[in-house]
Amino acid sequence: MLQTPRGTYDILPEDQPYWETVKESFKQTALSFGFQQITTPLLEYRSVFEKGAGEITEIVNKQMYRVYRSDLSPEEGEEEIVLRPEGTAPVARAYIQYGMQTWLQPVKLFYLGPMFRYEKPQHGRFRQHYQFGLEILGVSDPLVDALLIGVVNELYRNLGLQQLTFKINSIGCPTCRPKMVNEVVRYFRASRELLCPFCQTKLAKNPLRIYDCKEEGCQQLINNAPVLIDLLCPACKDDFTQTLEYLDDLNIPYDLDFRLVRGLDYYTKTVFEVIAQEGEPSLGGGGRYDQLIELFGGPPTGATGFATGLERVIEEMKAKHIEVKPPNPPQIFLIYLGESAKKKSLSLLFALRHEGLQVGFALGKESLRSQLKTADKLKVPFVLILGQKESKEGTVIIRDMNSGAQETVEIKKLPGILRKKFTK
Ligand SMILES: [Zn+2]
Ligand SMILES: [Zn+2]
Repeated sequence: MLQTPRGTYDILPEDQPYWETVKESFKQTALSFGFQQITTPLLEYRSVFEKGAGEITEIVNKQMYRVYRSDLSPEEGEEEIVLRPEGTAPVARAYIQYGMQTWLQPVKLFYLGPMFRYEKPQHGRFRQHYQFGLEILGVSDPLVDALLIGVVNELYRNLGLQQLTFKINSIGCPTCRPKMVNEVVRYFRASRELLCPFCQTKLAKNPLRIYDCKEEGCQQLINNAPVLIDLLCPACKDDFTQTLEYLDDLNIPYDLDFRLVRGLDYYTKTVFEVIAQEGEPSLGGGGRYDQLIELFGGPPTGATGFATGLERVIEEMKAKHIEVKPPNPPQIFLIYLGESAKKKSLSLLFALRHEGLQVGFALGKESLRSQLKTADKLKVPFVLILGQKESKEGTVIIRDMNSGAQETVEIKKLPGILRKKFTK
């Protein structure tokens, strides 16, 4: 049997209302705060992700899908094309490509779409997964960090997800980072043999990433590791304090989390994550990335952003029993019986649609009984029954599903009669 590739899934009709609700709600919240939508291609040059993430990052090394013409070997041909693994680097690429530094600053953008990573298959990890993201480019100010976190809080609140916790940390700037890295390396090098093999490689190339290792042995070492916010330069410290004060003003609860670093190297200063429950994977995360635009060859540009995985959000909505409305539930259900009625039912269906009515129908070979059952399940108030006799006489039966009462009316008069019933 043919199946979806490992780590991917179909979104079946019954789940679509969740997806539509989340996408629409996120979109409306972002628009209401003045964010504009940007849609970047699924395909990007590999260098877009290499520049910001650095060679060591797992994503660039092991998790990107390469795309190449099927008649060429991967070695031949043009510059490497990959499926985008995340949304921030493409937005940064677009900021420079379209000269957005000349737009009114900051530029506030949001995106929504699938991202691709070669993940080890496990619960909640997908090789194609949907992300919604916000980016604010052009300003480096703690006020903007707090604004972003405030908007993120609204995103979830508008979906009915409340009592979330923000974990927050600062990972410094180019001024304090070298000293920070030195301290961290000195600490972990002293117990190098206790680190997991992967952290041992991080020690040489990206030591801050040791902080988010989940291995038991590393965890114990991390418990007593240097606290990064103690090593911030005065400017970063001031920046972080201001951000926290703004969050206090907004009544947004947060926990300082000294283990929090971000999965991508280009983050600076304030980084954050949103969790629904301690011990569960985060709903989303983000942070400041003041170096990225410059790394891409643009002018020095402050920027901060956030991304959330839709699968995780929907999982959380289901866990919290948050209900979503199916779109356009049918108001009436159309049933036909017999060949001559079959022919008429199609034109009747379109005529009713043109009247602005949502019509459910089966148009199959099911019995009257089973079609009525379907209508009942859809909770439609009225069913139209078009039988042989009615079709010959140009009439149709209206059945009131609540009372069970039936009346025969002329098809010509049907729109008027239905309009009256629905405005009652
Ligand atoms: Zn600093
Ligand atoms: Zn480790």
